[in-house]
Amino acid sequence: MSTSGPDVTISTLTPRATATHRAIITEVTVTPVAFADPPLLNSVGVHEPFALRAIVVVRTADGVYGLGETYGDEAHVTRLNRAAALLIGADAFNINQISALVAESLLEDQGLGGHGTGGMVTTTSLQDRVLSAFDVAALDIQGKILGVPVSTLLGGAVRDEVAFSGYLFYKWAGHPGQSPDAWGGAVDPAGIVAQARKMVNDYGFTALKLKGGVFEPEIEAATIEALREAFPEMPLRIDPNGVWTVQTAIKVGKRLEPVLEYLEDPCLSIADNAAVRAAVNLPIATNMCVVSFNDVPPAIAAGAVDIVLSDHHFWGGLRRSQGLASIAETFKLGLSMHSNSHLGISFAAMIQLAAATKNIDYACDTHWPWKLASDDVIVPGVLEIKDGSVKVPTKPGLGVELDEEALERMHQQYLKCGLTKRDDTTYMQSIQPDFQLTTPRW
Ligand SMILES: [Mg+2]
Repeated sequence: MSTSGPDVTISTLTPRATATHRAIITEVTVTPVAFADPPLLNSVGVHEPFALRAIVVVRTADGVYGLGETYGDEAHVTRLNRAAALLIGADAFNINQISALVAESLLEDQGLGGHGTGGMVTTTSLQDRVLSAFDVAALDIQGKILGVPVSTLLGGAVRDEVAFSGYLFYKWAGHPGQSPDAWGGAVDPAGIVAQARKMVNDYGFTALKLKGGVFEPEIEAATIEALREAFPEMPLRIDPNGVWTVQTAIKVGKRLEPVLEYLEDPCLSIADNAAVRAAVNLPIATNMCVVSFNDVPPAIAAGAVDIVLSDHHFWGGLRRSQGLASIAETFKLGLSMHSNSHLGISFAAMIQLAAATKNIDYACDTHWPWKLASDDVIVPGVLEIKDGSVKVPTKPGLGVELDEEALERMHQQYLKCGLTKRDDTTYMQSIQPDFQLTTPRW
């Protein structure tokens, strides 16, 4: 028997691992960071000049470290720190144990509020949101100890590269008071077509998604039609983040039936999306009305959606996301991935998960092109979008390395920027005082 492998204790319900082995967690740090974000418009306002993330670094007795990345809102960071304190002494191979300790850390959670997703995802599971970054970090450690990539731990890679869609946003040329960014403005169909050309030229995307819910549906439908004219073969999607009424969604959906690959969250509720789906001959996708395991039975019963856009940040990490993939397979739902503004650790986790998930049926979403290449906490050069896809890292664990100096620099940026939670609406109202948060709006 080999002595070089880990001495793993197979335990599922013990509150603490007692064996001394290489995967015992001895230190967990949670570091909020900020990175520059362009003024991307959405239904709840506009992205602020900085996006926030929390970087989780879990270290073991033998000096192996694992990385996780999640939302950077203050309340979420507080919860992460409470969980981190309980994880000392736990076994990085025992995710059931880590999950139980996260649950324990959330017992006294009154009044914290806030969930870090900018008001758009309201019924996600608190425990799954907190667990996610620790699950990813634990898998990173496991992979490093065993000498295999996370995709192997998740059952084995079924693909060498993962396809992503070009994520188009209506946007201003720059934040008020700042010079225009490299992308320039896009506040009409021609602007979005120009942005799409740059996306496709720079990254080779073979599918395009438009973030809608910003302008009158008539303008947004015309934008999709302009994209179709410019890119006759390209799969196209639009996501108004649930701000259309059923009536509007049916009208726009019927108009775009010949054009769209799928329609994402036309309305907010399961019932309303079911009504749209019954009337429109388009697949309906969601990352808003099916956002936790609790949402799955009613959504399936109502026939609300065709495609679930998973997101390991709120589905409880990579293993729980695989559980969702099995449900999608069982109920013949399509599956792809949702994205928030993120850094390289999240990207690596998404890629490892997608690599090991048979039924990823569509190019996944990513905000990757919207951040500066210099703004990251990982050593650069591993994750590159080429021909619309990213090669799956094959090094042990997630396949990315922490850049300690960059982590410190981006933490200082967090302290300096003054933001402590994502709030697109208040920022928009500081620029356009008459902006109202209304759902549905049209
Ligand atoms: Mg969405």
